[in-house]
Amino acid sequence: MIDLRSDTKTLPSAAMREAIANAELGDDVSGEDPTVNALEKMSAALLGKEAALLVCGGTMGNLVSIYAQSRPGQELVCHEKAHIYHYERGGFAAVCGMLARPVGGEYGVIAPETLEAVFPNKRDLHRQDIGLVCLENTQNNCGGTCLTAAETAAAADVAHAHGALVHIDGARIFNAAVALGVSASELAAPADSITFCCSKGLGAPAGSIVCGSADFIQRAREARKLFGGGMRQAGIIAAGCKYALEHNLERLAQDHANARRIAETLAACPGIEIDLASVQTNILFFAVRRDDMTAPELCHKLERYGIVSGARDEHLIRFVTHLDVSDEDTTTVCEALREVLA
Ligand SMILES: *Cc1c(COP(=O)(O)O)cnc(C)c1O
Repeated sequence: MIDLRSDTKTLPSAAMREAIANAELGDDVSGEDPTVNALEKMSAALLGKEAALLVCGGTMGNLVSIYAQSRPGQELVCHEKAHIYHYERGGFAAVCGMLARPVGGEYGVIAPETLEAVFPNKRDLHRQDIGLVCLENTQNNCGGTCLTAAETAAAADVAHAHGALVHIDGARIFNAAVALGVSASELAAPADSITFCCSKGLGAPAGSIVCGSADFIQRAREARKLFGGGMRQAGIIAAGCKYALEHNLERLAQDHANARRIAETLAACPGIEIDLASVQTNILFFAVRRDDMTAPELCHKLERYGIVSGARDEHLIRFVTHLDVSDEDTTTVCEALREVLA
């Protein structure tokens, strides 16, 4: 089976399971789990921040970050296609009492002019404050597109100049780092906080990490407790994350090359619409525009080749490559697409 639905489908390898089985454990709610402590230290160093915190998943990472850095009634600015805005149960509103101000931007990049325009140019008694600007890197819903360090810094400069803080939903920040050929810490530098996921392309079974200043992490830890996210012998989770960070970062380039190969194959098929410029990492969106086939029908035909995928609607499909899709699997996918779409 070749599963192209999501990089969340990755399974822990035998070596990762061994690392999990052998992990030293303790009560992490009291800060006594050596594996969690090692993971948090390692994550903070990788992201160039003072401290880090293990949380259950990306949604919780974003939520504790927003909660620890906002007040009810403040506004949160994000891209109109942001994961935080569409796929996290409206946590920033439901739990933090924030209003959302979604803004546009090509390939998920919020331009400084766009951001500048949402801040009032003078203090206004009537208007709520903008507390937080949330960026997403890579931008999932825009096709896994990257924000460069310069684009991130430009947006953060505007936010900070107006007294707002900056959070990065960096669920796939390492995909961005590898694709851009920069360090993750460079991409995270302009942000006050960042969350990344170990459970997607990095292959761990669970776990996300929040990074930021020591003071912020203390407040995020309190928020995690509030949300019931304190886990006891969490080294079981942390060991998989640590293994992922030690072994699975550089190989993300393979996933990107495989996504690229599939995208180029699709671009050469009749009745397929794909923006190759948006295929920068391991995610690709394309539209099926044919009289003889809808997107769900294409997915159905691919099942015969052992390929599992899903359509968003009658036209749109998202494929995601990851560590359980080998180069050979990618060849199978390309051949299947050429045959089915001939
Ligand atoms: C997956 C994802 C999240 C949420 O992560 P979960 O671990 O599923 O809660 C947040 N942001 C982006 C961009 C994601 O792709």
